[in-house]
Amino acid sequence: MILNLKMKIKTYKCEYCEKKYKDEKIFLKHKCRFKERYENKTKKINQLGFLLFEQHHTLLQGAKIKKTYGDFVKSSLYKLFINLATYVLETKVLYPEKYLNFLICNKIRTQLWNKDVSYEKYILDLLEKESMFDGVSRTLKLMQSWAIKNNDTYNNFFKKAPKPLIYYYITQGEISPWVLYCSKSGLNFLKSLLDEEIEKLKPFINPFSWRRKLIINKKEVEFLTDLFTRENI
Ligand SMILES: [Zn+2]
Repeated sequence: MILNLKMKIKTYKCEYCEKKYKDEKIFLKHKCRFKERYENKTKKINQLGFLLFEQHHTLLQGAKIKKTYGDFVKSSLYKLFINLATYVLETKVLYPEKYLNFLICNKIRTQLWNKDVSYEKYILDLLEKESMFDGVSRTLKLMQSWAIKNNDTYNNFFKKAPKPLIYYYITQGEISPWVLYCSKSGLNFLKSLLDEEIEKLKPFINPFSWRRKLIINKKEVEFLTDLFTRENI
């Protein structure tokens, strides 16, 4: 009888990269990029990156099968979406899912996804195309949060908030031209700007196209003018 002297040696396998170890201590210290990506699963950036990755998959493939976080971790697009999520959080991108949609529909190169030049194009498109309701409600929310922070009333926003702050919000798409052009304090703010300031804001407030837009949308303009007069905005 031949004895089988071969000892059964226990091995440890990393479930993420499949690397095998004989020594448990070394195995426990093992690090790899996939393991790290898994460990970051609950981080805000990873959650958002995964959400956008899923949306991208749905948009491009009309996906019937949902992507899992595991698919994301192993995907060659992982870094792209983590970078995009980082940009979205740092820049406080308005409606991240709409932004991704814009990038894809306009075939913007992935290298430019986290660049201000692309975000500005998106903002200009958003301000032009969004509904009056969406633009006005976003602006009113901004005015309200300013009022809370400054212990003031929201209708004082254009009258009292620092000019550079309002200017900045306009360039970030936070303030809709619907409010600027249909409220007394909004128009007064525009009047208070210097020529060179107006010149820089032009893409965002597009006076030429908005003049036409306001003429065409008479009912909306009447509604807003009434509302803003009543609210003393
Ligand atoms: Zn591993």
